[in-house]
Amino acid sequence: MRSYYIAGNWKMNKTPSEAVALAQALVKDLKDCKEKVLIAPAYVALDAVAKVVKGTNIRLGAQNMAQEESGAFTGEVSPLMLKEIGVQTVILGHSERRAIYKEDDALINKKVHLALKHGFEVILCVGETLAERDGGKLETVLSTQITDGFKGVDAVSLKNIVVAYEPVWAIGTGKTASPEDADSAHAYIRTVLAGLYGADASKAMCIQYGGSVKPDNAATLMAKPNIDGALVGGAALKPETFVPIAKFR
Ligand code: PEP
Repeated sequence: MRSYYIAGNWKMNKTPSEAVALAQALVKDLKDCKEKVLIAPAYVALDAVAKVVKGTNIRLGAQNMAQEESGAFTGEVSPLMLKEIGVQTVILGHSERRAIYKEDDALINKKVHLALKHGFEVILCVGETLAERDGGKLETVLSTQITDGFKGVDAVSLKNIVVAYEPVWAIGTGKTASPEDADSAHAYIRTVLAGLYGADASKAMCIQYGGSVKPDNAATLMAKPNIDGALVGGAALKPETFVPIAKFR
């Protein structure tokens, strides 16, 4: 039985003091929330926010992670550093990492393995651009990102992986995939996962939808059979918008 999982990706927003204030408000407002909830502040705010969410029902996530444990990787943040702070989850393969920082599936797969080795939960983001969707490449893109992202990952590790389907054209644009289109992309992702790990494993996977999720569309999206939660960007930056999404039912 899958349960709902609502995650907020704060991206490059909120200074450490602003992040603490937002986290404190969410701890208060979400203490009775039924769903699994995560917030992912910027790296520099993680330590301060970790202290706020410690012992609460809110998980702490990082928006990215380096592909190595230590060494000459200027500007990168190691899994060891994240672990010591108390980070529980890492978001990998976000479309902004893929598009702006040219992270490819091989690099993302390396990060997935390293994150799992260090006991993190992974939220692996996949999704097509508008040109890819219009060009009839939706399934090819999703199948490649899933197959390459999961390469070498054993079935036992699946319980620590969540997939976030985020059509790139819907991220931060105010355009949401229709619940039907999102659900059919999720169903396709399950077909690919079933091919890799079998039907039962695929059915058990949590697949979040991301792309302009707002309080007024969350419940409709979540009502779809293959949608198990949301990865929320813009609407995660204010309690007024994130709390109703997390409490969509
Ligand atoms: C995201 O960045 O993961 C995202 C879904 O952003 P937004 O909700 O703003 O579209």
